[in-house]
Amino acid sequence: MAPPSPLPAGPRLKRVVIKLGTGVLTSGIGQLNTARIADVCEQIATLRAQGTEVIVVSSGAVGLGMGRLGLKKRPSDVAKKQACAAIGQSLLMQTWQRGFEPHHLTVAQVLLTHDDLRVRSRYLAVAASLQEMLDYGTIPVINENDTVSAAEIKFGDNDTLSAMVASLARAQYLVILSTAPGLIDMKGTGEIVPVVEKITASIEAMAGGTTSETAVGGMVSKISAARIATKSGCGVFIASGAEPAILTKIFSGHSPGTFFVPSGLPMESKKRWLAYFQRPEGTIQVNERAVPILREQGRSLLAIGVTGVRGAFDAGDIVDIVDPEGRVFARGIAAFGDSEVKSAAGKSSEQLKPLFPGRKRLEVVHRNDLVVL
Ligand code: GLU
Repeated sequence: MAPPSPLPAGPRLKRVVIKLGTGVLTSGIGQLNTARIADVCEQIATLRAQGTEVIVVSSGAVGLGMGRLGLKKRPSDVAKKQACAAIGQSLLMQTWQRGFEPHHLTVAQVLLTHDDLRVRSRYLAVAASLQEMLDYGTIPVINENDTVSAAEIKFGDNDTLSAMVASLARAQYLVILSTAPGLIDMKGTGEIVPVVEKITASIEAMAGGTTSETAVGGMVSKISAARIATKSGCGVFIASGAEPAILTKIFSGHSPGTFFVPSGLPMESKKRWLAYFQRPEGTIQVNERAVPILREQGRSLLAIGVTGVRGAFDAGDIVDIVDPEGRVFARGIAAFGDSEVKSAAGKSSEQLKPLFPGRKRLEVVHRNDLVVL
């Protein structure tokens, strides 16, 4: 098994994303753990002084809002949760600014909804503005814009958000600090899995849901975050935020948690955006012959391979591509709307030409707009 061996801090460690869960920043509902925050800020300041750019993804808005309002339980009502987030977010930023003050560092608040990354022009704008914040020497502190996030524009949890940020910002490492010390092999050794080379079904089976009043994600969302980040070429650490000097340990090669090895051949930026930043509008099912043609040969999806269509989508929308058993194995931008794909399904290019006169391109999903997951 390959050792985690991350790059040591210093000039070769260019950019990292550090995600902190509510449970790390607080002790008890809405009570800030100021000693721990001070410790984290000091370690981040050290990284920054060594030339590493650091982006923080911070949870805690809802939890701090709950604390300020004296609520003991996370409200189930969405509007109430959103109000808590609005109240807590400013407290959260004050906390971070205060934590970095002794190190003469300035924080920059970034609040995102899923739509901000789903629309390509906005995704690129976020990447460019983050770059400027880092160039100015500030520490971007990112959270979901919970107050305006309705279900359909939500990331859902900050683990996913942090992985998307790591992918978009081309970070070398994502560190997810939570109350969990790492991925624990509950069925086997009962111990922390030090290194995950590949996220397999048995790795996924090790993850269990979360139970805390303020936390959202749990290990399931951490594993899916690790998948997004590693496929983007970013190594991922999951470790306990309660452990003193945890970042220093991780970046000196002594991670006590779990390290997920980055994929050797990361996807190019547009394909990453297509694979991980989208929510598909529909599904196109293909026959057995089409599966290896798309999966192994990297070719376009032609109508002749299509056997079924689900959902309502227009040309230009994102669709999942499923095999005859209904398993999603690719995602792409449909060149036709759902009713056109239905009428074209199973037909050869020759048969299609009279159906779509004047159309030069007859691929249902062009290979440049298709990514195998
Ligand atoms: N955005 C939420 C908050 O700030 C946290 C979501 C999460 O921890 O996954 O409270």
